[in-house]
Amino acid sequence: MKRVALVTPRQADHALVVDVVKIPEEGLAYAAEVAPEMLRLPQEDAMTMQTPVVIRGLFTKVAQQVYFHGRLHGVVTVPCSRCLEMVQSHFVTEVRAVFFPPASVAAEEAQQGVTDELDLYEHNGVTLDLQPLVRDQVVLSFPVQPLCRDDCAGLCQVCGNNRNERPCTCQVERKDSPFAVLKQLNLKPS
Ligand SMILES: [Zn+2]
Ligand SMILES: [Zn+2]
Repeated sequence: MKRVALVTPRQADHALVVDVVKIPEEGLAYAAEVAPEMLRLPQEDAMTMQTPVVIRGLFTKVAQQVYFHGRLHGVVTVPCSRCLEMVQSHFVTEVRAVFFPPASVAAEEAQQGVTDELDLYEHNGVTLDLQPLVRDQVVLSFPVQPLCRDDCAGLCQVCGNNRNERPCTCQVERKDSPFAVLKQLNLKPS
């Protein structure tokens, strides 16, 4: 598991594609670094990734079903949900997935909840493509409410000043005001 293939954009598609027939009984160790532009992320998410996603894991095969157990890690740069400063958020995700041969009975059973601990994908009988799995996992890893630090003071709701940089003396609305309650909901555009 020590081999790491450093993937250049030209090779990246190849790095995410694994030959199903070459997975031996004892399993196949897999390691790759994949440039974010190879993941075909949604436009908005793609903007936030500047470094490769590192993938390591093991492929095993039972009949025509290929299992992958591994880890992904990467970094996304997103605005702090309180003060909007850009912050780097590291993610590490453990992945357990199964790749079924196309149109198999096992895949249909699994989709009915038989294998609910595994993420389900398909291979084409010859090769499997990790790209959909990696893309899904990266999108799921985006922080919902990133913070630059746990005690980020945020922006002043009155004057817009970043209160981490300097305090301001603006009068904050009384806690029992209906508007104060609304603001505490910390609504985020989805
Ligand atoms: Zn902040
Ligand atoms: Zn202020």
